[in-house]
Amino acid sequence: MKLILDVQGFKLEKNKFIVKELAGFDGFRICHYIFKAPFPFDHLSPDLQRQAHWLTENHHCIAWDAGFTPQHLFCKIMMDLSNSYDIIYIKGLEKANYIRQFINKPVVEFDEQPTLRMSHPKCVNHSKTQCICALSNVFYLYEHFIMTFQ
Ligand SMILES: [Zn+2]
Repeated sequence: MKLILDVQGFKLEKNKFIVKELAGFDGFRICHYIFKAPFPFDHLSPDLQRQAHWLTENHHCIAWDAGFTPQHLFCKIMMDLSNSYDIIYIKGLEKANYIRQFINKPVVEFDEQPTLRMSHPKCVNHSKTQCICALSNVFYLYEHFIMTFQ
C-alpha cells in the first residue's frame, strides 16, 4: 500500500532539518503529528532565529514552541509507517533524503517543481488562514499524483 508523506519544519546548524509537522495519507487514513521543539528558541543562533521566525510568519505558520509529540518519537513513528506501507511518496529530493534515513522501504520523490501553494490549512495548528500545511499537502498530492496513476 502507498503512503503520501509531508514534513514541515525548521533548520538547525549545518542545514540540518528538524521536523515540526508530519502528515501522511493513504487514501483512507491519515497520520498527523506536531512535534515539540528540540530545545528552547533562544538556543538558536540569531541567524537561525530569524529564519525560524520567517517560517512561522510566512510559510508553515507554526511556532517553534508548538506541539506535544516528543522529537525522539519521530524515529518510532517512521518505523511503524515503514512496517505498514510498501512505498512512500514525498515531494522534493531534500525531504525524500531526510525520510530515507528513517524508513527501510522505497521512498519515491515527486518533483520539487511546481512548488505547493499556500492554502487553507486542513489542521488547526497554523496561526494563519493561508499557509503551508503538511496535511493539506498530502491530500493535494494524493489527489493530483496518486489518483491520476490509478
Ligand atoms: Zn497543518
